[in-house]
Amino acid sequence: MSHHDERTFVMAKPDAVQRGQIGEIVSRLEGKGLTMVGGKFMQIDEELAHEHYGEHEGKPFFEGLVDFITSGPVFAMVWEGADATRQVRRLMGATDAQEAQPGTIRGDLGNDLGHNLIHGSDHEDEGANEREIELFFDESELVDWEHDTATWVY
Ligand code: ADP
Ligand code: MG
Repeated sequence: MSHHDERTFVMAKPDAVQRGQIGEIVSRLEGKGLTMVGGKFMQIDEELAHEHYGEHEGKPFFEGLVDFITSGPVFAMVWEGADATRQVRRLMGATDAQEAQPGTIRGDLGNDLGHNLIHGSDHEDEGANEREIELFFDESELVDWEHDTATWVY
């Protein structure tokens, strides 16, 4: 990892998996020039859901959110790049997919407020990216590599 790079946690939520949008989400982040350094297809259990969304505990939508995120498999990822946390949030678009700008993942593909396809660490919450990466991944599951543009880009 070069020194100016940052890692962030990203997840294709159950609706993205069910609707066959994993590839599209990966493609948009790759297209931006971000680098995937970890990826895991998995089922989130109750305990992990509560921990991951702990900041929302007690809010009226919390139980529905836990039900949704545990309703089927997700594709959890770690992405790396300059200012990666904020860049991913920009590509994601606003939380409410019905209000998110066209051109964003949620704006183009998401259904509504609860079903918005993708999670990305909050760039306004200091350290959220590192905390979420640690919650979902063991260090041994992350791959430290760099794009070899000298060899593969003509
Ligand atoms: P973001 O995912 O954009 O960081 P939040 O952290 O505010 O958004 O909320 C986490 C997730 O909880 C959202 O992505 C969405 O799926 C769900 N959510 C947030 N607010 C609501 C709400 N008012 N009603 C239903 N679901 C919500
Ligand atoms: Mg959030």
